[in-house]
Amino acid sequence: MSKMDNLRAMREAKYAESQKRAATAPARPVAPVAPPAPKRVEERAAESPATEDLCGHRNMSGRTCTRESGHPQKSHRYS
Ligand SMILES: [Zn+2]
Repeated sequence: MSKMDNLRAMREAKYAESQKRAATAPARPVAPVAPPAPKRVEERAAESPATEDLCGHRNMSGRTCTRESGHPQKSHRYS
């Protein structure tokens, strides 16, 4: 075996070893993801478009509540 072959063999052995180490290395620890905080009713109401799924409550003069269906507000809105 010539000196050059010897060097190459050594390099290849080192390379193989580093590959093996990379393969068996433990996976990067995944940062724990905190569950999203439950949204407040006001935020949920703001997200839903006003034109969709309306409360539909009618007042005495026949106007329809324009708030979203099941709105948390006690009063209805007829604007
Ligand atoms: Zn209403």
